[in-house]
Amino acid sequence: MTSYQERYSASLMNTFGPPKLALVRGAGAHVWDEDGKEYVDFLGGIAVNALGHAHPALVEAVTAQLQTLGHISNFFTSPQQVELAEALLTLLDAGPGKVFFANSGTEANEAAFKLTRRTGRTQVVVAEGGFHGRTMGALALTSKEAYRAPFEPLPGDVVFVPYGDADALRSAVSDQTAAILLEPIQGEAGVNVAPEGYLAAARSIADEHGALLWLDEVQSGMGRTGQWFAHQTMAVRPDVVTLAKGLGGGFPIGACIALGDAADLLQPGNHGTTFGGNPVACAAALTVVRTIQDDEILEHVTVLGQKLRDGLAADPRVTEVRGEGLLIGLDLADEKSADVVAAAQRAGFILNNPTPKRIRLAPPLVVTQDDVNALLAAWPGILDEAGL
Ligand SMILES: *Cc1c(COP(=O)(O)O)cnc(C)c1O
Repeated sequence: MTSYQERYSASLMNTFGPPKLALVRGAGAHVWDEDGKEYVDFLGGIAVNALGHAHPALVEAVTAQLQTLGHISNFFTSPQQVELAEALLTLLDAGPGKVFFANSGTEANEAAFKLTRRTGRTQVVVAEGGFHGRTMGALALTSKEAYRAPFEPLPGDVVFVPYGDADALRSAVSDQTAAILLEPIQGEAGVNVAPEGYLAAARSIADEHGALLWLDEVQSGMGRTGQWFAHQTMAVRPDVVTLAKGLGGGFPIGACIALGDAADLLQPGNHGTTFGGNPVACAAALTVVRTIQDDEILEHVTVLGQKLRDGLAADPRVTEVRGEGLLIGLDLADEKSADVVAAAQRAGFILNNPTPKRIRLAPPLVVTQDDVNALLAAWPGILDEAGL
């Protein structure tokens, strides 16, 4: 039998290019491939595996829930669904609100996009370089030309402005604007942190025109930055927040959370989903929340994130390091990010290269000091081998 990597191309659509590895097992921040080779996972399923791989609490919660009640449809609710909605609103700490559960980031954003249409306005002002998903609505809100062009026409009345430029935002927003959509930290672009004061300016611009401020925290939320939500250190109160990636710790779930008056914009018949908010996904997400709280993981993320950024930046071939907590982007002196990722993989580390010059790290929030030390010890050799 040939390897799974070879068999993949005959049976799976070529939407992602060839897989880099066939992985068979994981534990904590470590994964193993089909040949038994071990890797430290500094990508974490793209900021998804908050509790790492095969965390006992998550395995137990999902197993127990599936043994008790797995799926019920949205004609019914479950304790897990209500408790998770309440928990997320408590963590947001921004007053009363309401949650719609979906299964992914793009679906969370679809719900929010539809919610903005219920203001009676249609225009959404969005930042260039942002990423909001691949379904037609979320794609309409994503600026990258290569993703959009093959699928036009996309839903309209979307205006793009440069990220971080409050003046550009002020000129674009008017009384026709339904919502401003921003990521507090742009993940897919290679980790661009909102400049100081930018989100607060977006809040006041939205208020001047009666528009909603919608923050996409699909990648930056759920403890990733050492805060529950990245915007919480940015002096801003959003009207809508979308979540997914880390929320279920690897179990698919997304959420669209609306605060204040925005919470009642979607009404019966306006939106729906078969799987969204099912008891198993909600039990998984509740376990992620409780484990982050009980094990004081936010503090751990802050401390280790700083060590990782400092250690990576110590090499002069790294020209800039950005990010908060364990969402880290770095610029290389040369366009060799693909070589760095390949050299790292040979050395037993999984990294990611969102652009030719940029490396991204988004390891499990439970990555250990030993894992970080191992990467930092190997780092100069990885850069040597990549020819930097
Ligand atoms: C990944 C991502 C999405 C899309 O999430 P999917 O689960 O892949 O649909 C949306 N917004 C941001 C900021 C993301 O990082």
